[in-house]
Amino acid sequence: MNRKPRFTKQRKLILDELKKVKTHPTAQELYDSIRKVLPNISLGTVYRNLELLCQQGMAKRVEFPEAQRRYDGDVSRHYHIQCVGCGKVDDIYVNETRAIREDELIRFLGIKTNYDVHGQKIDFFGLCPECKSRKNQEKL
Ligand SMILES: [Zn+2]
Ligand SMILES: [Zn+2]
Repeated sequence: MNRKPRFTKQRKLILDELKKVKTHPTAQELYDSIRKVLPNISLGTVYRNLELLCQQGMAKRVEFPEAQRRYDGDVSRHYHIQCVGCGKVDDIYVNETRAIREDELIRFLGIKTNYDVHGQKIDFFGLCPECKSRKNQEKL
């Protein structure tokens, strides 16, 4: 049986706010924008609710090495790319054919390693278009 999780007004607001942006904000960044609507909310509350939303599968953690944990309100299948220049995180959406190949890879690895492979996690990093053109201008 699927028990409906208790959904507080606060949590709903945090999720709405997270879904509004494409920037994959940190808890602190989200706190800064939510404070404008709920002045009495604490950073701890925002953080706790974000973690709960992730546990409930309504949000996703975006984690890059040596970077603060970020959150994503878009739980559809997509990859992330982080700019090594400015640190922003962008989405990469894949088409169905790619997704199917991914499933094949997971099946293949399951046979090869005898693991029950539950998934994979691939993150990309590089230089975003803005940082790239800034860098090119510096060279001139
Ligand atoms: Zn950049
Ligand atoms: Zn994303």
